[in-house]
This record gives sequence, structure tokens and C-alpha cells, in this order.
Amino acid sequence: MRARLILLTLLGALHAPVAHAQPTVDNVILVTLDGARTQEIFGGLDVDVLRATLDGGDPEATEVYRRFWAPTAEARRTRLMPFFWETLMVEHGSIAGNRALGSTVELANRMRFSYPSYAEILTGEAHDDVITSNDNRRYPFPTVLQFLKGELGLDRTRVAAFAAWETFRWIVSSEAGTFTVNAGYEASDDPDPVMQELSTQQFETPTPWDNVRHDHYTFALAMRHLAVHRPRVLYLALGETDDWAHGERYDRTIEAFARNDDQLRRLWEWLQSDDQYRDRTAIILTTDHGRGKTAADWTDHGNDTEGAEIAWMAFVSPTVPIRGEWQNHAPIRLNQVAATLTAFLDLDFLSLTPSAGRPISRLFDR
Ligand SMILES: [Zn+2]
Repeated sequence: MRARLILLTLLGALHAPVAHAQPTVDNVILVTLDGARTQEIFGGLDVDVLRATLDGGDPEATEVYRRFWAPTAEARRTRLMPFFWETLMVEHGSIAGNRALGSTVELANRMRFSYPSYAEILTGEAHDDVITSNDNRRYPFPTVLQFLKGELGLDRTRVAAFAAWETFRWIVSSEAGTFTVNAGYEASDDPDPVMQELSTQQFETPTPWDNVRHDHYTFALAMRHLAVHRPRVLYLALGETDDWAHGERYDRTIEAFARNDDQLRRLWEWLQSDDQYRDRTAIILTTDHGRGKTAADWTDHGNDTEGAEIAWMAFVSPTVPIRGEWQNHAPIRLNQVAATLTAFLDLDFLSLTPSAGRPISRLFDR
């Protein structure tokens, strides 16, 4: 018996393929950091902006300066987002949007604020004639999350959106209630005890804002949902990089980037520890808009703010060998996110919305 077993094992080894199987993508994750400027993503702490918030104080005397200042843009961004810049973009992915390298990511919509921009990301096109406010309203344009639920035949827990801002309850779908959505200060309807504890705590730790909760809860709820329900499509929409900027708190804005970086690290380490997700998950990270470029207008964005049309976009997929920063390419627009996410799963978003932005071709060159 034993000899036969060894022989079978040897035969098995002889028949094992020489090369590894082609990498494939089974799961997609979209992560957005609201209003996260290219200035901080590519250059870290902006000392001119910090100085402007200090009312004559010395920036060098501040805690954020001690934590995050360094003499070069590369060193500053690495201090701010060490996981993103030293691990994710070196070993697993790439990022477009550094204009100093001839890389442009921009909004197609001309509104340059959140609802129109998230709608552009999720529906694959700008709707400037219809979506003109951040009001809690639903519009009749189907999103990539709805498309993937139908194409992949997923039940309502295996497509999920967790968001800091309550308006995402309306943004993420043209139909209410077809997949898991938890956004803003919203109780979780999941009976899981960890979800219930997080759900309770969010109401006990208010932010300065009525309709945006701390990223901590959005992230923790999404992570628990991943572990319990194992979605194939996840949208994580974080918000504090925008909220603290509107509040003119550059110190907290900068700290939000650093916390978001650590959340990305925890997400990535969890994915890579799990058989369903390890090396089978594509991730797009982006923002909904830029903001002003100067110490006077960095808090703002909108169609009259120069710089609010400027964005960035990062890509992680086992099928894409590009690493580091993109250089000298045709501009990328936010309206290409929906078709690019579906293309990772070999699905065609343009079959739903023919006028949507095309998949970003460079990611699919073989
Ligand atoms: Zn904003």
C-alpha cells in the first residue's frame, strides 16, 4: 500500500504544471478617500497649509510636523503613508496621478464635489445636467455594484458598501435594498455580535458632523462583514480626509491620511491571510475630487476651485505587473473606474452603459 502511495505521489509530481497557473481575479474592492489631495498623496505634509492654520504659530513646534515632516516629497509621503508607499506600491500595485511625472487623473464631471463625483465613479459617467447637489436623493442610473451583483448572481450580503457619509445610502444604487449598505450613522441590521457592538459604539462617539461618522467604524464594520459574509464585491468609502479639511483642521486631516494608511495595511494583511482573497483580489483606490492648491483654498472644492478637478488612482491586482508611479500616459478619468473594476472580472460594464468610460487599457495589456 505504502509503495503504491509513493508511486502515485511521484506521478502526481511529474504531472504537476511547470509554471504557476495564470493569476485570476475573483473579488474586487473599491476604496475611496474623500477629497484626498494629490498634494498629500504624492508629497505628504504641506507645510504652507500647516502654517496657514496656525494663526502665526510656528509649524515646526507642532506634533504633526514632528511626526510627518521630511525634506523631500518622497520622504514626506512615506512618513505619512508608510504601508502604501513602502509595501503596497512597491510589491503589489501602482498609482497614477503624479503630474510631475506626466501622469494625470481627472474628473469628467464639472461639479467637483462628492455626489456628482461618486456617481461618476459608480455609474461610469458624469451626469452634470441631473446630479447638481449632495442631497439625499436616488437617481435612475444603475451602478457598477448593481451590475456586478446581477452578473455574478450574488446574494445581498456578497455585494457590500460601507461608507462614512450617510448620503451613500442613496448614491450606491438606483434601487433601494438590493445589497448590503451601511453608511453614516446607521445601525447595522446584522445579528453578528461584533457588528452589533460596533454599531452601538458609533453612536456613542460623535464627530463634529451630523451625517458623517468616524472612519474607524466604517472600516471596522467592513472588515467584520468581510470575515463573516465573504463578499466578492466590496466598496469602502472613507471620509475624514475631507471632513477635517472643511473644518480647517489640517493636523487632523493629515492624521486621517495616516490612519487610512494603517487601515489599508490591515485590510491587505487580512486579504492575504485568507484563501478566498489571497492573490485573487483586485483593488482600485481613488478619491472623488481634489481641493484648492493654496493655503487660502485647500479647505474647499467645487467648480470654481482650481485644483478640485485633480485626482489620483491606484491599482492592485494579481493580474497586473505594473509597480510604482505611472508616467507619461493619456489622462485617466473617474468615469473609467466602473468599467475597469468589471474588466478585472472579465465582465463588460459597457454592456449596461455603452457611454461609460472605457476600462483603463494599460492594466489589461498582456
Ligand atoms: Zn468635501
